Amino acid sequence: MSGARGIVVAIDGPAGAGKSTVAREVAGALGYTLVDTGSLYRASALVAERAGVAIDDRAAVEEAVRAAVAAGTLRLDAGDAGLTRVLVGGVDPAEALRTPAMSMGASAVAAYPGVREALLDAQRAFGQRGAVVLEGRDIGTVVFPGAELKVFLTATAEERARRRCDELRGKGVDADYGVTLAEVRQRDHQDASRDIAPLREAPDAVRVDSSAMEPQAVVDAIVALARSRGAV
Ligand code: C5P
Repeated sequence: MSGARGIVVAIDGPAGAGKSTVAREVAGALGYTLVDTGSLYRASALVAERAGVAIDDRAAVEEAVRAAVAAGTLRLDAGDAGLTRVLVGGVDPAEALRTPAMSMGASAVAAYPGVREALLDAQRAFGQRGAVVLEGRDIGTVVFPGAELKVFLTATAEERARRRCDELRGKGVDADYGVTLAEVRQRDHQDASRDIAPLREAPDAVRVDSSAMEPQAVVDAIVALARSRGAV
């Protein structure tokens, strides 16, 4: 995976640790392609919703997502400037994926083995090209266990809830800290306790706690690590 093609950088961690921003900046600094794998799970929840399938009907959700991937109506697209995006029915659902309802839906469908399996090839196809930053929960443990650099980016639940509230309020959404903290904890629990691909740190991951760090310091640290592992 290394050499002239560039390395694979896996950035995993819980919701709200700053992965999205950091992964985007790291990819930009290295001139690498970015794959936000969470958007595939969010889009899967959207596919299920649009198919009129109840999110707790595992078999029906798995079938809807499998069918959408097979038909190409749910897929990753190379996008512009190295930013891959997920397309549902040929359209980037953008903000429709980022609602609290889709966050919970994504976390629920991500526990279904058939959904994870259906999304695996799309993630690997992008990563195999090298020179890529993949951001998610199980990149270093399942999708690319051979990644040259694995980062486990984390922060306290309180700090992550605070950031999430700020983000929602910035968008004009009336966010309550207590409710947000409860959601963060529930998602952590769902993500860590599921049987398949639970959120856990790869043994060879570098752990970065962003609670008291400026985003730029986190980016600089990861870029330096990537360069020390062969990124140019
Ligand atoms: O990162 P993001 O918050 O967009 O992810 C949404 C949900 O998708 C997470 O709660 C998690 O359950 C799931 N996910 C996953 N594996 C990934 C990326 C996301 O299970 N690689």
